[in-house]
Amino acid sequence: MALYDKFARYAQHREEFLTSGLNPFGTCIDEVYSATEGRIGHQRIILAGTNNYLGLTFNQQAIADGQAALAAQGTGTTGSRMANGSYGSHLALEQEIAAFFGRPTAIVFSTGYTANLGIISTLADNNAVVMLDADCHASIYDACTLGGATIIRFRHNDARDLEHRMIRLGERAREALIIVEGIYSMLGDVAPLAEIVDIKRRLGGYILVDEAHSFGVMGAHGRGLAEELGVEEDIDIIIGTFSKSLASIGGFAVGSRAMEVLRYSSRPYIFTASPSPSSIASVRSSLQTIAQHPELRKKLWNNAHKLYQGLQQLGYDLGPHISPVVPVIIGSKEKGLRVWRDLIAHNVYVNLVLPPATPAGITLLRCSINAAHTDAQIETIIQAFAALKG
Ligand code: PMP
Repeated sequence: MALYDKFARYAQHREEFLTSGLNPFGTCIDEVYSATEGRIGHQRIILAGTNNYLGLTFNQQAIADGQAALAAQGTGTTGSRMANGSYGSHLALEQEIAAFFGRPTAIVFSTGYTANLGIISTLADNNAVVMLDADCHASIYDACTLGGATIIRFRHNDARDLEHRMIRLGERAREALIIVEGIYSMLGDVAPLAEIVDIKRRLGGYILVDEAHSFGVMGAHGRGLAEELGVEEDIDIIIGTFSKSLASIGGFAVGSRAMEVLRYSSRPYIFTASPSPSSIASVRSSLQTIAQHPELRKKLWNNAHKLYQGLQQLGYDLGPHISPVVPVIIGSKEKGLRVWRDLIAHNVYVNLVLPPATPAGITLLRCSINAAHTDAQIETIIQAFAALKG
């Protein structure tokens, strides 16, 4: 068998995509003009499929701070956090994140993916039990595989199922690591965190919440779902990323002082280069923006409601949850691909998501709205969907 033969199925899909038009898994955004607009080929498009929830990618202060760090500290650190890749700015950012969350410790990683990999794989070794929401992100699954833990999956957002499985574990439940997300990236629904905290109080265990899509988006100060529900004290570890609300690249974990020890045992922390100084400077700037401008969050949620209501009135199946992620559920893969391409022809870019990347094998067009979208842009998105209804 030749080296790539086992990928024949993917090669065939790729060929089909390439011969029939734009490839949804290799689209080039030829130019980006702002947090909400770009160009694909000759088409000027509204970006409605990003994770740029607060619209900060073109924030002037974040750009200026990034540029200043680039000039002062160079293009990259060329080393890992453990060797030569911890600059003063990485440490300062860790202190700022810890203070933002009111926790003793924050650890900065190179991406959100490696934050999950670094924290979870180290804790979830082959003596550990992980209780995992079935819809958790690939990075969490990969982390559990790397660590070698026993994984017990519970039905998505089903606290009762989690409880039954915890009870079945007996004494071992006391040491189980329960992992959920704040807002789930594909359907935009949120974890029943208050119920899960109640289970922890009764049966024991530890809770880790990946707030990748809820940091900056939920909670009075933007700390995420745990803040929104008033349960932060019961959450042992929060994971986040710099690549969504903070509009840069990198990841973090916050937790107790004891978490510090993971720096010495976490391979995804030790064996990869740290984020570049310019990325870190932009993140520090945007973290301040999040703290000082709660009105961005308000605007984001107003926009989310407008998009949801507009698409709902057209009769699209969106699921019951209103959030900045608005999933338009489409019958078949073929229809999904057709509507996705037609939306681009109508100047609107969203994400086409196909199984197995979707929960329950559905095809969906993942729209995501941000605080920088104008009413006129939201209306254009809705009109584009209206033109394609049927
Ligand atoms: N966790 C979740 C829930 C995510 O959706 C993602 C990215 N989509 C990540 C972690 C990884 O973050 P990053 O892209 O910053 O590596």
